[in-house]
Amino acid sequence: MTLTDVIEVLEAAYPPARAESWDAVGLVCGDPAQEVRRVLFAVDPVAVVAEEALEWSADLIVTHHPLYLRGTTSVAATTPKGRLVHTLIKNDVALYTAHTNADVANPGVSDALARAVGLTGDLVPLQPFPDDPWRGLGRIGELPEPATLGEFAAQAAKGLPHTSWGVRAAGDLSRTVRRVAVSGGAGDSLLGTAAAAGVDVFLTADLRHHPSSEFIEAGGPALIDAAHWATEWPWLDSAASILHASGVNVETRVSATVTDAWTRGY
Ligand SMILES: [Zn+2]
Repeated sequence: MTLTDVIEVLEAAYPPARAESWDAVGLVCGDPAQEVRRVLFAVDPVAVVAEEALEWSADLIVTHHPLYLRGTTSVAATTPKGRLVHTLIKNDVALYTAHTNADVANPGVSDALARAVGLTGDLVPLQPFPDDPWRGLGRIGELPEPATLGEFAAQAAKGLPHTSWGVRAAGDLSRTVRRVAVSGGAGDSLLGTAAAAGVDVFLTADLRHHPSSEFIEAGGPALIDAAHWATEWPWLDSAASILHASGVNVETRVSATVTDAWTRGY
């Protein structure tokens, strides 16, 4: 398989045209004609992930987060990002990113998150595209049985990979929840949408004190805040499955290295 073959499959599932205008998705480094036998999936393009790729002899790393988001004029090995580019190119490892185009895909990042925290049955986008009701940001679904907020938070913590950040709940822990909205990654901007959707609880990451406090005070849905990395990690397996289902002949591996920014809680 060539890198082009693999990219074709990824771009059919995660069309780059669906990425946000500020985003930077697609091939970061690598030769489209190079051969690809092993593909490593990871959330973050960071040094430990590159090390893991080298140890496993991966030819391609597919990450959710972009390496460079803004214009850059140098990839000199004088910065962590430049060093990463050097490591990858010297070792013939390509890097490819599917970010906001993977968020809005169907299935996308929030579908995998919804399943990981125990939502069963149909899922619909929390913020669908005006031209496509089945694609968009976040997902809404239901728990098979009503649960208390405390029970659901514990279940979500169990279903997500462990991080020092853990899972935090805001709101009355004994309130009943069944209809749930989730959004992988930073979900601050979707608080109002979740409230308008009439869900019982909204699970996302990177929630800040003031918006969350005001949201709860205003009688909005309960909130669950998980580690950013943990909310996006379940997608990696889904992306790897898409490669396998397409018939491209590559070995895949999902990095279990925790690259969430927070390494320890006290
Ligand atoms: Zn993210």
